[in-house]
Amino acid sequence: MIDESLLRRLPKAELHCHLEGAVPAETAIMLARRNGVRLPTYDAQQLYRFADLPQFLTVYRAVCASIVTAADFAEVAYAAQADAAIAANLRYRELFVNPTNHPDLPYPRLLAGVLDGLRAAQVDHGVIGRLIPAINREQSASVAGDLVEAVIAHRVDEVVGIGLDHNDVLGPPVKFAGVYARARAAGLRRTAHAGEIAQARQVTESIEVLGCERIDHGYAIIDDPVALAHALASGVHFATCWSTCAWFHPDRIGVASPIVAMAAAGLPLSINSDDPPMFGTDIGREYHGAATAFGWTLDDAQRAALTVLDAAWIDDTERRQLVDEFRRETTDLGASTAELDIAE
Ligand SMILES: [Zn+2]
Repeated sequence: MIDESLLRRLPKAELHCHLEGAVPAETAIMLARRNGVRLPTYDAQQLYRFADLPQFLTVYRAVCASIVTAADFAEVAYAAQADAAIAANLRYRELFVNPTNHPDLPYPRLLAGVLDGLRAAQVDHGVIGRLIPAINREQSASVAGDLVEAVIAHRVDEVVGIGLDHNDVLGPPVKFAGVYARARAAGLRRTAHAGEIAQARQVTESIEVLGCERIDHGYAIIDDPVALAHALASGVHFATCWSTCAWFHPDRIGVASPIVAMAAAGLPLSINSDDPPMFGTDIGREYHGAATAFGWTLDDAQRAALTVLDAAWIDDTERRQLVDEFRRETTDLGASTAELDIAE
């Protein structure tokens, strides 16, 4: 069994982390005070306490309200990237952001702030940041449509695709079919949260109706043989999250995690941190949880980290560079050089 300190030094990439969910409680409280925004509590030990998904989303929306200016976004984006690079050698991350949770800040200004933070973190800490503006599925299709039009009108290389998040029991995929079709036609990659709490059918619909190339979470699929067979045939990648899966499915943890069953069924998947400080985790701890349940050797952990790059929405030159760096550094940690077919 590999120990957590060695796993923390393993170079990593992740595909499922929410920028507004990556704000430490102390920072959220500082921003709320600075911007005159009301929080349910100003006690950092109490802010990230919730009993279920709706309660979590209430806190999440309060944190969103605390991030007001482009400079705030630069600050939280920089800190999120720097923290993960320092704590767990994170080298590449695709971050979700919910622009429509910040209706008073026009998208181009929000984007400029986030990009300032991501670019500065790359210079200072060697971690590449990419952005996936995410539709809040609890809002209307028209709000989602306006967001996608703004993303298309202000296209930059760092914005790689669109996502769909918030409570998956609300806002079925079909509601956003037209919006996803527009994103697809404009060349944006597509992912969606599905089957986290909702049923497996939602995973199938996200693939078929929204044209998703990746699915976030998707745990329900393990209880539905038809949806599972469909997902296996489609080849979609599942961006799973070790801690939040355990949190929302407390009866299925450790070796009983749906993520273990998904891997055993042959689904391509990655381990990600979701909303790290809100759930008391980071990407290093996520790898340690998975490594313990899966019984990973260092070679297995390296293979897991390389698989993430296979599903990342980056150009192949950059992907190849990261694969070479990951292999070199992990070999220095004591792994044999894992062979892995990377999509060219
Ligand atoms: Zn998520």
